[in-house]
Amino acid sequence: MACALGFAGLLEPGPGMAVDRAAAAPTHTCRRSAVLPSEVLLAEWSGNEADFAHDGYTGAGPDPIEVIPATERPWLVLAAPHAVNHWRDGAVKLADRGTGSLVRTLSRALGCHGVIHARALRLDAGVDDRVIVQDALAERARDGSVLIDFHGMRDQRDLDVEIGLGSSPSGPSTALARQVLDHMERCGLRVAMNEKYQALSPHSLTNWSATRNITAVQVELAARARPPAGSQANEEKVLRALVEALAAPGSAPSAQS
Ligand SMILES: [Zn+2]
Repeated sequence: MACALGFAGLLEPGPGMAVDRAAAAPTHTCRRSAVLPSEVLLAEWSGNEADFAHDGYTGAGPDPIEVIPATERPWLVLAAPHAVNHWRDGAVKLADRGTGSLVRTLSRALGCHGVIHARALRLDAGVDDRVIVQDALAERARDGSVLIDFHGMRDQRDLDVEIGLGSSPSGPSTALARQVLDHMERCGLRVAMNEKYQALSPHSLTNWSATRNITAVQVELAARARPPAGSQANEEKVLRALVEALAAPGSAPSAQS
């Protein structure tokens, strides 16, 4: 049944918002839709970032992992494993800013699962943040699920986004990447596919997913397309494109529709 949701029913328009039903239908261009109040999501995206930015991107959350449980789209899982500072080989790696707030905002809007590394671990905690993220994902992403793994890259190559396919792209994961890319390009974003950030690391969630029959892609957002340094115009395009791509009937696995 979830497939039938399409765009309608994703979000109810708030008070005073005009409703343009025609704009809610899938189109070949990125059209403004009152069913998808991107200006509301944009404010949430920026506002949510404060929780992750707290104390130099240590994060304000009580727990290392924040989970948003699915309400409408249990097959869809969004992940932000680098939303706060994290450790690699004894060195701190800085947060992919704007990704935790994006996953929180989109997961609530779409009614899908969200898994976010929301509070930095101490180096002496004896825990690998990659493991706790994967453990949290394993409880929600199952055989047949769809996973989008969000990261942040520096501005480069005049790109807003790069989509990575992992070491062994499947037909469904390639189709998912194409679907996300198409919506982003229609919204006017500059997108690369599998050029520099291909998610080839054995630790990437895209490769982790491939061993579990989870259809996954990695999405790298350039700094200019996410808070706190991005332009609102770019960020609104990112939100519209992702909501439209992930709410579209084709984004749901047929076995679960
Ligand atoms: Zn990252």
